[in-house]
Amino acid sequence: MLRFTPILLALVYALVMYRVSVWRTHRELDAKSTELADARLKHLTDQLAAALGLARIPVYIYEIDPVNGLAAPDGRIFITRGFYRKYRNGEVTGEEMASVIAHELGHVALGHARRRMLDFSGQNALRTALIMVLGRIVPVAGVWIANALTGLLAARLSRGDEYEADEYAAALLTKAGIGVGPQKSLFAKLEELTQSRAGVSPAWLMSHPRTEERIAALDRLEARWGAQS
Ligand SMILES: [Zn+2]
Repeated sequence: MLRFTPILLALVYALVMYRVSVWRTHRELDAKSTELADARLKHLTDQLAAALGLARIPVYIYEIDPVNGLAAPDGRIFITRGFYRKYRNGEVTGEEMASVIAHELGHVALGHARRRMLDFSGQNALRTALIMVLGRIVPVAGVWIANALTGLLAARLSRGDEYEADEYAAALLTKAGIGVGPQKSLFAKLEELTQSRAGVSPAWLMSHPRTEERIAALDRLEARWGAQS
């Protein structure tokens, strides 16, 4: 029993950290966000809502600069002020913003938003446990191996999620009459932004798979759906 006490403690610690992090995230989002009030975007999100048979889609502006979109486990979608600014000054179209909202809706609908919060604490617990076990066998390299293993696992999990959310968004945008085009053109724009200003790559792209692979996956979907109709 004594042998397992450190691992048990690590798990309890991870569980407490998980609750605290969920609470802090929600408090931060509540304090720093306002409901989206742009008429053009509202019209587009209403199109998405109609395609889903919902009354409305709860979209909020989150007051931070990095270009990002996120989904809270409770189903609220957040677009950052930085992203919204790009839309307001014409760098990003309303349809392209709708494609981000559709992608984030995919994370909610497919259960990713909830699982991600869990993943985060699960990964911490796994990392801590691995460091304890491996650290005894190979003192210094053990920590490095533990970090590498958990990182690899996390990347694996999230890549799959991104393609699934893209696919969900593509289907929803098609059903809503907006189409897959804006999804692809936005990827290209964000990619360009990454290249023209090194070091300021949008957070939304960094946490996602390679742009050309995502566009290629969408092309395959379109070809498949086109063949069916
Ligand atoms: Zn995503």
